[in-house]
Amino acid sequence: MKAIQFDFSIPKWGYCQVAGRISKKEYYGPRSCVQFRDVPEPEIRGPRWLKLRNILCGFCGSDLGLILLHDHPTTEVFSSFPFTIGHENCSIVEEVGSDVRGFKKGDRVVVDAILDCAVREIDPPCGACASGFPANCENFAEGDLSTGTFTGFCADTGGGWSKYYLAHESQVYKISDKVTDEQAVMMETLSACLHPVFQSMPESGQDVLVIGCGVIGLGVITSIRALGIDCHITGIEPVPLNQEKAREKGVDEIIDPSNENVYERTRELTGAHVYKPTLAKPICMGGFDRVFDCVGSTDTINEACRLAAGRAKIVVIGIQIPKTIDWTPVWMKGLTIIGDLGYGVEDYQGKRLSTFEIAIDLVTRGKIDISDLITHRFKLDQYKEAIEINMNKAAYGAIKTIFDLSDQ
Ligand SMILES: [Zn+2]
Ligand SMILES: [Zn+2]
Repeated sequence: MKAIQFDFSIPKWGYCQVAGRISKKEYYGPRSCVQFRDVPEPEIRGPRWLKLRNILCGFCGSDLGLILLHDHPTTEVFSSFPFTIGHENCSIVEEVGSDVRGFKKGDRVVVDAILDCAVREIDPPCGACASGFPANCENFAEGDLSTGTFTGFCADTGGGWSKYYLAHESQVYKISDKVTDEQAVMMETLSACLHPVFQSMPESGQDVLVIGCGVIGLGVITSIRALGIDCHITGIEPVPLNQEKAREKGVDEIIDPSNENVYERTRELTGAHVYKPTLAKPICMGGFDRVFDCVGSTDTINEACRLAAGRAKIVVIGIQIPKTIDWTPVWMKGLTIIGDLGYGVEDYQGKRLSTFEIAIDLVTRGKIDISDLITHRFKLDQYKEAIEINMNKAAYGAIKTIFDLSDQ
């Protein structure tokens, strides 16, 4: 079967670091780490594993970061190579292991992509898994399964950018006929947006800032509104299409950083005092109580700290490699900065449920839907076009793009 794989090596990585500056096509050209190739179909690797056939698979911002080698070299030790890319899946069960209960061939499913202690059958689980934070599992490089944080970053499981891949029964959730394939393929993304909201739940009446209204920012706004939290949400977003979607999803105010003064607007919206150092950017005292930084760049993290109120919490969801951070606002305002990845277990309506179960429940009951963010679909062999469009989303009017594998 055909698969789009990521095959890391120092020569390929070094070549792309240099050649990619001249033409970005080099990042997915013949000498890059990205390879479209024939691979053997995966075989069930144990009694509790399933073989799944893909219908749709998303193209995540983290996949683009991977292809453009934006991930910090630290992440190398938490992946195994070569791996098939793709962790946002809507799939059909093709085959089940001998001990799998509750699933049969033909079931339509979505997959929690985290390769935690449960998937690795490590017992007792690590402290992070035991306390409901599998995305922070300590055993991503341990156990029988090859190293990998998520499906789509592990050599043994395969991934969504091919016809078949493998999943452990603990990862798999059946979905009802009420859920469309498009809603299903967005379930992983939705879970990754619900999780930071659950973990850093804004309070009624608070001023919330969402930096970056791409897929994740829009998902965060939608999640806050679907959970019925009566807070005031401001989004910072330069792209008109995303601004429009943010308004549809329930944002109260949009700041367009390309033609508005973000600090002045923050003063207007929150009553903050703005101070203007001679040799640094302005800093607000007072400001936003919760900041969801869905970009995670040097500029946005610095801005988040400067716009945040005293004792505010900043949730960094965007994955980049920020460079110089001015920590003055952090200690002056007593800020809490917390990273957030993936999903886990949440307190919801008096129960402890996985973020996936909550996402599936909300979608099935029609309380939340982000499938309208899908703007483009590609066949697998159109992957170069898909990468090109993901590199220039604003120019192509793209928000979320997916691969359609239904006739592979
Ligand atoms: Zn993702
Ligand atoms: Zn663990």
